[in-house]
Amino acid sequence: MIPAQFDYLAPTTVEEALAALGQHGDDAKILAGGQSLLPVLRMRLNAPEVVIDLGRIESLRGIRDDGDAIVIGAMTQHSVVEHDPLVAEHAALISKAVEHLADHQIRHRGTFGGALAHADPAGDLGAPALALGAQFVIQGPGGSRTVAADDFFVDLFETAIGEDEILTEVRVPKHTGWGACYEKFVRVAHQWPIVAVAATVRVEGGTIAEAKIGLTNMGSTPLRARAVESALVGQPATEDAVRAAAAQAADGTNPPSDLNGEAAYRKHLATVLVRRAVLNASGA
Ligand SMILES: Cc1cc2nc3c(=O)[nH]c(=O)nc-3n(C[C@H](O)[C@H](O)[C@H](O)COP(=O)(O)OP(=O)(O)OC[C@H]3O[C@@H](n4cnc5c(N)ncnc54)[C@H](O)[C@@H]3O)c2cc1C
Repeated sequence: MIPAQFDYLAPTTVEEALAALGQHGDDAKILAGGQSLLPVLRMRLNAPEVVIDLGRIESLRGIRDDGDAIVIGAMTQHSVVEHDPLVAEHAALISKAVEHLADHQIRHRGTFGGALAHADPAGDLGAPALALGAQFVIQGPGGSRTVAADDFFVDLFETAIGEDEILTEVRVPKHTGWGACYEKFVRVAHQWPIVAVAATVRVEGGTIAEAKIGLTNMGSTPLRARAVESALVGQPATEDAVRAAAAQAADGTNPPSDLNGEAAYRKHLATVLVRRAVLNASGA
């Protein structure tokens, strides 16, 4: 289908984009890589009067080292994040998750910030961002504010970004030396996950010293498997110990039932994928 007619704006600064957003309010929509927005427009699930393309705002692109964090610009394409050496060294969980996100074409157009702002519960970036304790920098008419990952994902397709605001960058605390694995369960290649698990662990002398685990598609937002994280600390990185901790992976989750699987099946998958992801991340 062809989208409904809209006006197209392509500002070159965040300030211009915010001014356009302020002027057009509810009638405007931000365009990043367009990989989620364009299908929505083509299906006429949304018909904004104005589309504000962030593609010419250079300050929103790129990845930099900022001391104890890696900072990823919202308009940085998935393919850039995937191959970035800073991300691989200090936030390997993100590199591993992006590798599994859709196909090459979509990774080339889609953006890190666009995927997180879209907040699809089956999206591959929410769980790693949550597990790593990312901070979301959001700019609005009154200036910039920073929102912790725990508060960023509000509900299905809903984040803390206000209607007059733009996500500008994501700060990811460094996890240098941590092992990482993203286990994604799909029916066919390049699909959204039925369930996925983002795990990163720090192992000291064969013992799990710290563990952070995010779950994808186990509720309306990405979730932390906190019971498993606590159960893993101090345990040896062995099959038996990890299996026992992973049994709690579905605690407190509320996964959907759909054509790809019932909620009970997803809960079972979560325990299996957590075990695999933690063992892989800990090099066991
Ligand atoms: C066939 C197909 C398969 C896919 N498979 C996967 C998959 O397996 N895993 C996965 O995670 N994703 C998948 N995706 C989605 C892909 O990751 C998209 O890149 C992503 O969801 C949206 O990013 P985008 O840059 O294209 O944003 P857009 O589509 O341009 O925007 C998405 C939404 O976010 C808003 N937005 C974008 N940027 C900002 C910003 N900076 N500030 C405020 N709001 C903003 C837009 O207004 C819009 O509502 C798939 C997409 C397609 C088409």
